Amino acid sequence: MRPSKDPLLSTQTIEARVGELAGAISRDYEGRELTLVVVLKGAVFFAADLIKRLTVPVRLVFVRARSYQDTESTGRVELTGGPGDEVAGRHVLVVEDILDTGRTCTVLLERLRAAQPATLALCTLLDKPSRRVTPVEADYVGFAIDNLFVVGYGLDFNEEYRDLKAVHLLEE
Ligand code: 5GP
Ligand code: MG
Repeated sequence: MRPSKDPLLSTQTIEARVGELAGAISRDYEGRELTLVVVLKGAVFFAADLIKRLTVPVRLVFVRARSYQDTESTGRVELTGGPGDEVAGRHVLVVEDILDTGRTCTVLLERLRAAQPATLALCTLLDKPSRRVTPVEADYVGFAIDNLFVVGYGLDFNEEYRDLKAVHLLEE
């Protein structure tokens, strides 16, 4: 398995869309301080680029989520680190790399809700709506894509290819 030669989403395409998302989020949270809950490891590129374009002040919280082995969702979600007092009473926006079956975000959003944030929303770079197993919708979506396994811009295949600058398909 290796990344496609041509990217599915080029660096320019990603950059332009991240700018649009940052604009929308900055408008929606104007006058408020935002607490971003960044889901490690995949969302780090996206989160960093987003933060650079936001015009509202930002606090950062990281959580680690794991559900994938190779290209299959295991159905179990492990969450480590993160959120307790850091999110209570705050305007919380979860930053994910990709929304697939929805299991990870369902578990994470439940846990965050229990910590009683002032508001809670979800931003994902990529969304595979056709794959959903649990009903979860993002408030901000970069790109909706088909049921394809993608790598790059933070997304890995067994820890490889995160460093690719664009988003590529994983091919035989
Ligand atoms: P979910 O719990 O929604 O099924 O899975 C979400 C997580 O699975 C994402 O945060 C991501 O880490 C991983 N994932 C889902 N689809 C893909 C994909 O196409 N490529 C990669 N690299 N990871 C994916
Ligand atoms: Mg992830």
